[in-house]
Amino acid sequence: MKEYDYLIVGAGLFGSVFAHEAKKKGKKCLIIDKRNHIAGNVYTETIEGINVHKYGAHIFHTSNKEIWDYVNSFVEFNRFTNSPIANYKGKLYNLPFNMNTFHQLWGVITPEEAMAKIEEQRSEYAHITEPKNLEEQALVLGGKDIYEKLIKGYTEKQWGRPATEIPSFIIRRLPFRFTYDNNYFKDIYQGIPIGGYTKLVEKLVEGVEIRLNINYFENKEELDALAEKVVYTGKIDEFFNFEFGELDYRSLHFENEIIDTPNYQGNAVINYTDKDVPYTRIIEHKHFEFGTQEKTYVTKEYPHEFSKDNESYYPINDDKNQEIFEKYQAKSAQYNNVIFGGRLAEYKYYDMHQVIEKALETVAKEL
Ligand SMILES: Cc1cc2nc3c(=O)[nH]c(=O)nc-3n(C[C@H](O)[C@H](O)[C@H](O)COP(=O)(O)OP(=O)(O)OC[C@H]3O[C@@H](n4cnc5c(N)ncnc54)[C@H](O)[C@@H]3O)c2cc1C
Repeated sequence: MKEYDYLIVGAGLFGSVFAHEAKKKGKKCLIIDKRNHIAGNVYTETIEGINVHKYGAHIFHTSNKEIWDYVNSFVEFNRFTNSPIANYKGKLYNLPFNMNTFHQLWGVITPEEAMAKIEEQRSEYAHITEPKNLEEQALVLGGKDIYEKLIKGYTEKQWGRPATEIPSFIIRRLPFRFTYDNNYFKDIYQGIPIGGYTKLVEKLVEGVEIRLNINYFENKEELDALAEKVVYTGKIDEFFNFEFGELDYRSLHFENEIIDTPNYQGNAVINYTDKDVPYTRIIEHKHFEFGTQEKTYVTKEYPHEFSKDNESYYPINDDKNQEIFEKYQAKSAQYNNVIFGGRLAEYKYYDMHQVIEKALETVAKEL
């Protein structure tokens, strides 16, 4: 008999939900994380009384009532609604594309006028029947004004290359909304945990042993010997020592600043859609929780090429990487004593509600 039933590598949402549920079923878990904190990428740190989203802005949204009730059973959520604004050369536009945006772009007032204007804009590109790249695709779907002011610069910064070199399938459709509704998400439930996401994860892992600052690979044999099974939520290519090659990611670089003003930009998220501004967004964290602190904390977000020194944020699920991933996946299926789960082990972009759902499904299958 080993000391623990499960060694859980990674104290992010997947690992924490798994640990919580396994503990409920009487299993003994040990969670380790190489970082000096729990909560993985949803980690929030309190600075100047503000809960700062240290790895990028996180807004919880779901239409799954079970998941919404689940997270609300640990912490209370506020009524935050994500309504980002785009700043293009000093002019502001509401997002997602809705009647407010169309009014700001063209002065149109009714949905009918807006639809007619979009049709007029699109008709200029009707000759493009098979868009060869993202630029052509966006022009066909939305016309010149929307593309140049709200899509081009932002997307080029995100991908680090011209829109003419980005595949067209990235944009399948443009979500136009013909109501004056600035709510970014369509989900039924949305909000931010009052007190930050770290509080949610603290509640999840209550009573579970956690060791921080421990890299699984530096102590693998010793750690494996402690538990019957391993739940691995780190990078799948790293688990197999990159034997089929390294999986690519898009990374981010954050520039943080405490500013001596109670309100810097009046909104949690402002996107900069002009190519000449080097960052893609400015996040003002206090607005996620309607903060009234004397100072504010803002983060400029810069997309970044991935290297071993950067965090892996967004998987690049193109054919090349998918092929590599599938080799790792096939190999991982042979490991009966290891459960691979979460965004890094599955090389998949998961929203928070999806990763929680996946972790609950995994435990249900396991126990
Ligand atoms: C910029 C950004 C913004 C996002 N915004 C939203 C949003 O608004 N809404 C939303 O729903 N979702 C959002 N997400 C997605 C959300 O972050 C993920 O769904 C969630 O963090 C995934 O949890 P996880 O447990 O799979 O991974 P992680 O949180 O990454 O946890 C994995 C953990 O494993 C640890 N680990 C890895 N390797 C080792 C090792 N060798 N040894 C020890 N520990 C290890 C890591 O340190 C990490 O703590 C966003 C993601 C990004 C990148």
